[in-house]
Amino acid sequence: MKFRDILDFLEEVRVLGNFSEEEIAPLKQPQQIHQAELELDGQKYPAFRVQYNNSRGPFKGGIRFHPEVSQDEVTALAFWMSIKTAVVNIPFGGGKGGVKVNPKELTPQQLEELSRKYIQAFYKVIGPQVDIPAPDVYTTPQIMAWMRDEYEKLTQTTAPAVITGKPPEQGGSLVRDIATALGGVYVLEEAVKKLNLNEKTVVIQGFGNAGMNAAKLLAELNYKIIAVSDSQGGIYNSEGLDIAEVIKTKEETKSVINYQNAEQISNSQLLETECDVLIPSALANVITEENVDNIKTKIILELANGPVTTTADKVLFQKGTLVIPDILANAGGVTVSYFEWVQNLKDEKWTAEEIKPKLKDIMVNSFLEIQQQSENNNYDFRTASYLIAIKRIIEAEKERENNNLR
Ligand code: NAD
Repeated sequence: MKFRDILDFLEEVRVLGNFSEEEIAPLKQPQQIHQAELELDGQKYPAFRVQYNNSRGPFKGGIRFHPEVSQDEVTALAFWMSIKTAVVNIPFGGGKGGVKVNPKELTPQQLEELSRKYIQAFYKVIGPQVDIPAPDVYTTPQIMAWMRDEYEKLTQTTAPAVITGKPPEQGGSLVRDIATALGGVYVLEEAVKKLNLNEKTVVIQGFGNAGMNAAKLLAELNYKIIAVSDSQGGIYNSEGLDIAEVIKTKEETKSVINYQNAEQISNSQLLETECDVLIPSALANVITEENVDNIKTKIILELANGPVTTTADKVLFQKGTLVIPDILANAGGVTVSYFEWVQNLKDEKWTAEEIKPKLKDIMVNSFLEIQQQSENNNYDFRTASYLIAIKRIIEAEKERENNNLR
């Protein structure tokens, strides 16, 4: 999504929520945009850290390494993080970072050097109480460990809470690896209750961290996964796929399409497969005005960011499809990042059995609040989520102004 589209959407929500221009003004622009050029072996890579809003707590958001990173994209994603942390009501604001680079073209040594240079450029504006980065597209727990190390060297401190998504043996949290999928499953279970579904057939696009873990967790809960896909294509079996075998196939051959006991289908056929639950877990803008009329599902769980376009969203609402929006559906990741930060600050190590119920509470309560808001006003879940989040941010802004904190 472009930043300009966000401003249009914000105006729609402002009118619906009866917010004044003045109230919404702090949300129309980021508080700070930091830029740098990272030099590596004679090449220069543009790098950004956008700090959008911190009225509810320190800025929070990932750092992506991708050839298409731009200031506009990082700003839009930083806005989204401000909304996401407010939807699940964790005490963070929103930020995002990025480097315009193709990390696949770097050697492991260059990747480490670039990660350290990112921190050398921005260490003065981040910190455990200021701005806490995390992994995003093409950045890994190992990269987070290098970044933490560089921050600690430069500041002469011990500061595990400066960054989340670290490897568990280096201050990372348990459950973080499956948190996005698990959070999504918790809200999906509520949606299934709401719609009283007995049959639970599932189609999943994307078989990476989000999609594969969702498949695994749902198979354990006896959902029938009838189709999955990755970038090479999809597989379908109306009787259900053996997910353990599909994972094995993906690990051994790099793609799900080599799984034997299924028919091969394309990614567009996959999206149009009749099912009860459709889980886009790969790319943005895959359900559009072009294919929305052919989408035959009762629930869409947006584990990917922005898979449904604004126009398609309106059609789905008219059709009665329940769309659980990304800002709720995939917020399990940032929620467990918050747990990681708390554990680091308190010098504690929580078990998976302690973390899962805490995550479940946050996800289920957020779902129920949004459901209530949606039913009271006949809003779709996305609009209801934005209204709740924006109200929280406006209240926090006012609180800070009243206490002369701005
Ligand atoms: P990933 O890289 O682990 O997996 C992506 C998957 O999508 C891969 O299986 C890949 O083959 C597949 N894919 C790529 N192009 C495709 C195409 N054209 N058609 C079908 N499949 C395709 O990424 P991930 O971490 O699982 O993230 C997936 C989505 O979830 C992204 O939109 C990401 O922003 C969002 N998300 C992830 C997290 C997280 O914690 N992992 C948190 C929030 C949001």
